[in-house]
Parts: sequence; structure tokens; C-alpha cells
Amino acid sequence: MKKNTTRFYKIDLKNHPSAYELQELIKEFLRPSDFYILNGQFANRESSEDGPENSEMVLLEIPDREMGRDDAKRYLFNLLRDLTGYAPKWGTLTGVRPAKLVNEQMYLKGKSEEEVRALFRDSYYVSEEKIDLVMETCRVQSPVTAEPAGNTVGVYIGIPFCPTRCLYCSFTSNQKDYSEVKRYLAALHREIDAVGTRLTGLGVLPESIYFGGGTPTTPEAPDLDALLARTESRFDLSGLKEYCVEAGRPDTITADRLRVLRKHPVTRISINPQSMNDETLERIGRTHRSADIREAFALTKREAPDLLVNSDIIAGLPGEDRAMFRQTLESLLELGPDNITVHTLAVKRASRLREMDAEYNYGRTDEVGLMVGDARRMLAEAGYRPYYMYRQKHMTGNYENVSYAKPGTESIYNIRIMDEHQTIAALGAGGISKAYHGAENRLVRVPNVSNYDIYIQRIGEMIERKEQKLYVPFE
Ligand code: SF4
Repeated sequence: MKKNTTRFYKIDLKNHPSAYELQELIKEFLRPSDFYILNGQFANRESSEDGPENSEMVLLEIPDREMGRDDAKRYLFNLLRDLTGYAPKWGTLTGVRPAKLVNEQMYLKGKSEEEVRALFRDSYYVSEEKIDLVMETCRVQSPVTAEPAGNTVGVYIGIPFCPTRCLYCSFTSNQKDYSEVKRYLAALHREIDAVGTRLTGLGVLPESIYFGGGTPTTPEAPDLDALLARTESRFDLSGLKEYCVEAGRPDTITADRLRVLRKHPVTRISINPQSMNDETLERIGRTHRSADIREAFALTKREAPDLLVNSDIIAGLPGEDRAMFRQTLESLLELGPDNITVHTLAVKRASRLREMDAEYNYGRTDEVGLMVGDARRMLAEAGYRPYYMYRQKHMTGNYENVSYAKPGTESIYNIRIMDEHQTIAALGAGGISKAYHGAENRLVRVPNVSNYDIYIQRIGEMIERKEQKLYVPFE
């Protein structure tokens, strides 16, 4: 991001119907404090109309509000690129699912790869580097995305507790006494009973089950055992292809919990270092160190050697330069997980990082770009291929999150959740179910409350909400 501290931009979007998306595009070029939207429903509140003292005022406007959304985006992109000297690599695309866009063009509209490449280049101004990435991702995931989902669902079960809260976290993650975890699990069992029984009665089969969080290995071994057993007894697992417990925090991966996972038909876990640098781990609020990550890998190899392992890392963590990020990748490659997911640090709303520096994501565009480029090269050399990706708001440099997999170890759940052509039944606090109506290619959201205590108190209502909307596509 080329920041020019002497300029302040006043931008007239003329109440355009796509003003929100246009503003998201503007944020890829300009810090929120460096511009002000005139006549816009979504005027940013991070700046005043007059800008800072002594700033040079630049007035911009779109030609008229009748201009189509994509034309208006291209118009603004060209204007801001010329003024700032900066061109975002994803061009005018502000959505979170570039791979879904490719899949829709190819599978629903029958376009060839060349036609889609031309669309991305000429209409969305996406760089060749990112076109290559998204096309390869779609090729790798195509055996899964091409399959009809039929009467299947993905099941997500959330455990909203973690040992500590990470600096960048905006998830439902609580740090509570174990008695609260027990209360939560009792309510969750009720929801598992209701949803599992109902889907089984409708003849609906989970294709994948994903325990996420939070940290799903927060429950102690006997409670984890009971939770998995309850799930397996209520859902019909005859069509199950994948069963993931995203352990995540290495400090919760213990021999007794691994033995529980092995006892059940679990197929994959995550061991998430985020960084292999101890100072960074301390800085971002993790209680484990790189030695604990190595120990978690060794323990997994010993206690549950058949489990596939994913590992998450983050490019752009505070205090980390390109060399440190490469070191993390090298150390992780030595440990040899089946998947490595490379996130770009995002400054999310509810995070401590945002409180400390709301514009952190604007500072390190070039360096983080080199980091994600290094990851792509190093992982390709080691035999990993990109298989799913998404973008988020407020990401450093507006890059992307990409998961790389050794061939044959791609996660079905992750591909499906990004492709949005299958119903997701999401249980637990913060779970957002999505009922997929195939005939209209439409999703209906059915959210649970995110506060775990309110979830416990209103568990009956969470079950009833699903009754109203979740099962409709199967009835
Ligand atoms: S492990 Fe994940 S969910 Fe838990 S605090 Fe860290 S970022 Fe949040």
C-alpha cells in the first residue's frame, strides 16, 4: 500500500446501489482514515469530512449512479491506481470466494479455462500470478466440486473455548473454568440429539463432520470420548468420507485425547503452529512454544499415526520478517503435515490487534506479498498443491488464505464450505447453518447465537430455528 500522508480523498459515490462494494474496493487502496465518502449510505466513520489539517484535498466521483457495478469498480480502480501508484493483485474482486467464481463460470456457464482467465484479466483486472493460483486451486479441487451433493450435508460442531486468546482472534473463543465447558457440552449434546435424529429420519447423510472452534480438544479425554460417541450414535455415518477434529492448539494435544480420537473413526486433525518462532508465539498470546509443536507431531505419529494432519501458519504476524516466515515454513516442512494452510494476517473487528492498531493491515503489503509468494514456491517444490482458498476483509495487502495439500489429502469439508453447494448443519455457539436449495442455487442462513452462555440458556430455540429452516431442502 503506497500511503501518501499529505492527501485526503473525498469521494462521491452518488448513492450508488453497490456503494458498499465500491467502498470495500476503495479500502484496498486507501486507509479508512485517508478518505471520506460523500452521499453514501456507507460513509466510513474512521475519518471526518474535512480530513487532517494541512492535507491536500482530492475530490473524486463516479460518473453517475446508473453505472453498472462492475463498470463503476473498474472506473474507481483505474482512478485510484493512477493516483496512488498501487494496483491490488486481486484487481476489482472484493468477494471472499474467487475459486467459487471460477467454478461457476466453468461448471454452470460452461466457459473454458481460457475464457475464465480472460474474464479475470480483462474484466476484473486480476494479476497473472493470482489467476494462476486460483486456476490451479480449482483444478485440484475439481474432483470434489464436480460431484453432486445429493442428500448429503456437512456437519460442523463448534467448541468455543481456548486456553488463551490470540492477538488476532475474532472467533467465539472463551477462557473459562472447566465447569463452564461441562455446562456447554450438556447443551451441545441436546442439539446433537435433535439435529442428528432429524437428519437421519429424513435419510440425510453427513458427507463430512468437522469439529472446530475455538479449540475442539478443550474437553478432557472422557468428555471428548462421550461427545464423539454421541455424534456417531445420532447421525447416520454410512456415507461419511471425512471426520475432522481440528485440535489446533498444540497444548491441548495429549496422548489420552489422541487415543480417544483413534478409538473413533476420526480421519484428520489440525496441529496449528501459526509460527515456529518462540518470540512471535509469546507476542501473539499463545501459551505453547515451537518445542510443543514438535512434541504434538511426535505424539500424533506415535498414538494416532493414521490421522491426516493439517497445520495453519500466518504470514505478516507482528515482528516477523520474510526470513522468519521462511524459517517457519522450513521447520514445518521437516515435520511433514499433509496439509499446510497459509493465512495472511487479517485485522478483524473483535480482535485485540485491531484495538492496538486498526490499520496494521495497510503497513506491509510488499513484504507480505513476498511471504505468500515464498510459501507457494516452497510448498510446490515440496509436492503440495493449493486446493482451497478464500479472502477476508482487512487482510494485510488484500491477499488470500490458501490451503496446500499433498495429493489425495484434500479436505472435502473445506472445499464444500467455500463452494457453497451443499447444506451445512452447524451446531454449537456461533455455528451458522446454511440450507442449500439446489433448484434455485440459493443458501438460507440459520445462525445460532455466538455467546456460549446464551446458547446454553436458549438451546431449545436454537433447535427450533433449525426446524423452521434447515431441513426444508430435504422435506
Ligand atoms: S486458537 Fe483460534 S479460536 Fe482460539 S483464540 Fe486463537 S485464533 Fe481464536
